[in-house]
Parts: sequence; C-alpha cells; structure tokens
Amino acid sequence: MALLTEKLTNNQQTILNLLEESKEPLKAYAILFDIQKKGIKSPLQVYRALDKLIEIGKVHKIESKNSYIACKNSHCNSQTSTSFLICEICDKVTELKKNNLSSYFSKVSEKSNFKYTKHNLEIYGECKNCKKKI
Ligand SMILES: [Zn+2]
Ligand SMILES: [Zn+2]
Repeated sequence: MALLTEKLTNNQQTILNLLEESKEPLKAYAILFDIQKKGIKSPLQVYRALDKLIEIGKVHKIESKNSYIACKNSHCNSQTSTSFLICEICDKVTELKKNNLSSYFSKVSEKSNFKYTKHNLEIYGECKNCKKKI
C-alpha cells in the first residue's frame, strides 16, 4: 500500500504519537488540549492532520464516541471501513482485525440492489477483563 509509506508531517507525527500512547480513544478537544503543549495551536491544523491520518489508515474515528484511535494493526487495510468492539462497562475499544466483513456486507447489499462502499461498525458488549468480574 503506497499511501502508508508516505512521510508524515511533524503535526501528523505528533498527533499519531499522542494517540498511540493513549490507552483509550481520544476526543478531538482532548487531542487539542494535549497538542497545544507541543506547539500546535490551531484546531484547524489538528483536524487537518487527523483527516490525513484517517485517510492513510493510521488513525480511525469512532463515530458514536466522536473520538479517535491509533490503528495498532500494521496490516490494516481499513482506510474507510472500520469495525470496533466496544466494552459497555469500561469503554475499552478494540479494533476487529482481519475481518471479511466488507465482502460480506458487499454481498448482502447486492441482494438488496444496493452498492456497498464502506461501513463503520461498532459492536457493543463486555471485554475480557469485565467479563471475568461478573
Ligand atoms: Zn485499523
Ligand atoms: Zn471492559
């Protein structure tokens, strides 16, 4: 994937590092708050960098939480389609890897005479740690 080898700008790299170090998905304002300490003052710059990181698949957006997460899956090809497991108890978010959901959705969509382009899937439940406590 050629896009992934593209060199990141300083802003993009700073934001990516921040998300990679974070244990949980970050909301845009939390990113802004942290990033201002590192010298990126303008929200527009942050959004622009986030858009680019999403475009190249390094960062995914979790729509329902309006937050961002670094992709930890080096073979991720989900530039547009993402699937997340979200724990209802502790809010832990895990990306569902190596799924063939795109081809599945593509097939079911076709049956409804609908052309599939992408999906943003959020699956709710209980994570490994929370399951143990109950
Ligand atoms: Zn990913
Ligand atoms: Zn949990």
